[in-house]
Parts: sequence; C-alpha cells; structure tokens
Amino acid sequence: MKQDNWQTHFKEAFKDSTSLLSFLEISYDQQAALKTLPYPVFVPRELAKKIKQKGPDSALWKQFVPSMKEEDQSGLKDPIGDQVHQKKGQLIHRYQNRALFLPTTKCPVICRYCFRKNELYDSQFHKDFSPQFNETLHYLKNHPEIEEIIFSGGDPLVLSDQKIWQYAQAFREAGIKMIRFHTRMPVVLWQRIDAEFIALMKKLTEIFEVVTIAIHVNHSEELSDKLCRVSQELAKLPLQLISQTVLLKSINDEAQELKKLFTELVKMRIRPYYLHHPDPVAGGQHFCLNLAEGRKIYHQLRRISPGWALPHYIIDISEGRGKTLAYNSESWDFSGEFIDKDGEIAKMTSEFR
Ligand SMILES: *Cc1c(COP(=O)(O)O)cnc(C)c1O
Ligand code: SF4
Repeated sequence: MKQDNWQTHFKEAFKDSTSLLSFLEISYDQQAALKTLPYPVFVPRELAKKIKQKGPDSALWKQFVPSMKEEDQSGLKDPIGDQVHQKKGQLIHRYQNRALFLPTTKCPVICRYCFRKNELYDSQFHKDFSPQFNETLHYLKNHPEIEEIIFSGGDPLVLSDQKIWQYAQAFREAGIKMIRFHTRMPVVLWQRIDAEFIALMKKLTEIFEVVTIAIHVNHSEELSDKLCRVSQELAKLPLQLISQTVLLKSINDEAQELKKLFTELVKMRIRPYYLHHPDPVAGGQHFCLNLAEGRKIYHQLRRISPGWALPHYIIDISEGRGKTLAYNSESWDFSGEFIDKDGEIAKMTSEFR
C-alpha cells in the first residue's frame, strides 16, 4: 500500500499541463494552445480537486492554472533585482541584520503570478546547493550583524526535516539568533505539516530566540479546516505565525475580500504581516494593478479593519533596493519615486503608474 505521507503527495502532483488540464476537463483545443506556453506546471492533486470544484472563475483556478495571458512578455524578467544582489553563496543580504537563505528553487505549487517565474525554472537553476553552504557560513562569520536567517526559495519546506535541522544547527553555531520560514505549504500541501515537522519546530524554538513561520496565502478560498488544524498545532509552540499576501488583479483586489481573509487568519492565530504590491513580472502582467488602484483598495481596507487585522502594504523597489511602504495617505497617484533602504531616491519603471 502507498504511504500517505507528504512526500507521496508531492511526488504525485500534476507536473505538466496535459495531465492537469485533462483532469480539469479542459477542451483539447484549449489544451493545445496552453501547451505552447514556456512556463511549467506543478499542482498537488488534493489542491487540483479543490480548484476543479471551485471552477474557472475562482481565485484558486486563476492562481494555479495556466492562461494564455501569460504569453504577454511585457514587464521585467527579474522585477525585484535579486540577480543583482545574489552574490553571497545562497544568501541575499539586503538588510543589515537579516538575510534571505535560498536552499532550493523548488515549490510545492507553481503560482502563475510568481515574480521568480522567469528565473526559478531555468534548467541551470536546478542544481545541488550543498557545496555552496560553506561559502554561506563563511559569509555569516564575516557578518556578525546578521541576526536572523530567513529560509526562502523556492519553498524551504520541500527540504526534508533532517536537512532543515542540519542547516538550522549550522546557523545556530554561526551565531544566528532568529530563524524564519517563508512557505506556501500549509495552504497547498498541508500534509507537510505533520507530527515530525511540529517536533522539528519545537526543537528550533529551544535553540533560537525567535522562530517565525510566514504563510503565503492570498484568498479566503485557500483557507480550509486542514490549514486551521495545522495552524492550531503550530500555535501551541512558542513561535509566531504571520501571513504574506500578494495583491492580485481579479483575485483579491477588493477590500471586503481582503478583510475576510485577514480576519479569518487572525482566528487561526496567524497575524497578517505583509500585503505585497504585485511585481510587474514578464508573463504575469495580467495580475498587476498600478499603485493608485492598490492604494485605493488599501484605503478601503483600513476603513473597515481594526489595526490588528491590517498587514503593511509594501512594494519592492526594483534593482534590489529593498521594500518600502506602498501606501501614501497624501495622494492616490504615484510620483514615480520612492526612498530606498539606504535613503536614496529610486526612480521606478512606468509599470507602477
Ligand atoms: C523581504 C526581504 C527580507 C525580510 O524583510 P522583513 O521586512 O524583515 O520581512 C529580507 N531580505 C530580503 C532580501 C528580502 O527581500
Ligand atoms: S510558492 Fe512562491 S516562489 Fe513558489 S511559485 Fe508560488 S509565488 Fe513563486
């Protein structure tokens, strides 16, 4: 008998458009057209069932099922400028006291709006990162100001518990005090948050001062009793659960929907943390709205939400110049300039106007 563990669910996911689109009962003509798209497909089966049940107009479908709109190649290949900064082994060190750690390029799902969609799945990107880890540790030794390591990717929870523990121990020995995981797993492959994983998190809370799990979730359709159950288990531990949401055109660009999502997350002990303005990525432009539109939605959201259910609305300045607040209470229109993380003026590309 097949084992009902998360690895099996991961392995049995739909990995190509033909199998996913046939399962979703999309016509052959449409399938043939969608097959010409240059972007890969990956959707776990349990999630695909939910997508099918919700139908083509749903937020779930639009986020994970390929669309011919991806043919539009306007926009940027590397919208937030990670390629520029990624020169320290597997680390992106952009803010003084914290660094992103990228141990994998794999994800448990492929989101059609992903800002890394032109970067993650290049064949040259699929490689074994282990040899670079010494370089990573060496960098940390020379930069004692780094206190927090943020596991990102890809999705770091595709790594085995053992591998995560090995990395975490090495970081602890290198003097890192805080650790964070950015993941979509609890939403798209909730089987990952099993008893062993909970035990691993417990061990981490014993050796780190702060442990954080940041859950990527965009719409109330993504919530489920499974997510509720895993967050309840995690919330028993001395760690913080926070959320990350991308503001996406035709998915969640509506204050009432966002309010519902954030209120439900709070009920699950997940604190709304960031609402990201979408990055103008090539192949994902159909999810983009401009800053004036985003600001109006956020303004509405503020009017109907208590502060504790309100995430920061933020945007990534291009060319690796960091995140900044995207809400401006003085005008809807975007002046075209932001102050970057170093206090310099950054002129933004026209996509944001
Ligand atoms: C977003 C990001 C972080 C984390 O920023 P927080 O504001 O602490 O959530 C760290 N490093 C990089 C490179 C980032 O893009
Ligand atoms: S989980 Fe994140 S990194 Fe992975 S495809 Fe989705 S948006 Fe991109």
